[in-house]
Amino acid sequence: MQKLTRPFSDPYAVAVGCALGVLLAAAVLIAAAPAFAHAPGGGSDPDHPRSAPAKRSSPMGFGRRTLRRGSRGADVRYLQGLLGRLGHRTAVDGMYGRGTESRVRSWERSVDGRVDGRVTPGQASEMRRRAAVGARVEPIADAPTRDYVFPVKGPHSYGTSVNRFGAPRGGRSHQGHDIMARAGLPVVSVTAGRVSAVGSNGGAGNYAVVQGDDRRDYAYYHLQSRAVVTRGQRVSAGTPLGRVGCTGSCSGDHLHFEMWTPHWWDGGSPFDPLPYLRQWDAYS
Ligand SMILES: [Zn+2]
Repeated sequence: MQKLTRPFSDPYAVAVGCALGVLLAAAVLIAAAPAFAHAPGGGSDPDHPRSAPAKRSSPMGFGRRTLRRGSRGADVRYLQGLLGRLGHRTAVDGMYGRGTESRVRSWERSVDGRVDGRVTPGQASEMRRRAAVGARVEPIADAPTRDYVFPVKGPHSYGTSVNRFGAPRGGRSHQGHDIMARAGLPVVSVTAGRVSAVGSNGGAGNYAVVQGDDRRDYAYYHLQSRAVVTRGQRVSAGTPLGRVGCTGSCSGDHLHFEMWTPHWWDGGSPFDPLPYLRQWDAYS
């Protein structure tokens, strides 16, 4: 059963402020993404209420001490979220164990720094700087993983500047990236999660939205016909969602692909998916 409570008719019509959109998304990522448990019953960290302005100097105390194997606390949770955004995903549990240490080492290798599995205050600020930059424009470093696949199965291109995130759309701002591809090619879920919305409207055409287990939302627009998944359905990386088409507000077959902080049209913000797309494209 479909129950979409946001009665928008055009997904482009309610956009983040054009000029600030990209920066805003980056800022939201820095401030909000890593640390909130999002547990039932309001499990967010008490020392970092959702509405507080970002503590730019050291969020959650991150960067005030050197973190190493055995460290625990909110700053470790922040580090773990940050590692995920830098492409070295690990469990976010506030405990600096072997998994976190190995991800720190892989990050250290990726930046050609000292590889000791510890995070000094200097490294902490470097990580935050790179995460902020990566959220805006730069490809992120990541090791190939089967956790993510490219959303279109078949030949595709990234279009031109007008197809990019943040491109002007009649006074608004493009909230995703357009992947140009032939109509009928399969569109698949990039990662595991749960389908949170399926529908059709004049802007998006036939669309599907997946809430990823990685706490990002993924939206797929202009599908050729109705999505082949249903709301609430579990999907994996590679699960078919539909086919490339040009339904809704569209000229030329393509997949309009969006990535959001939680959740799509429900408190989240879209951010530039292109660095991620290129990364998945490189190995899937
Ligand atoms: Zn688009």
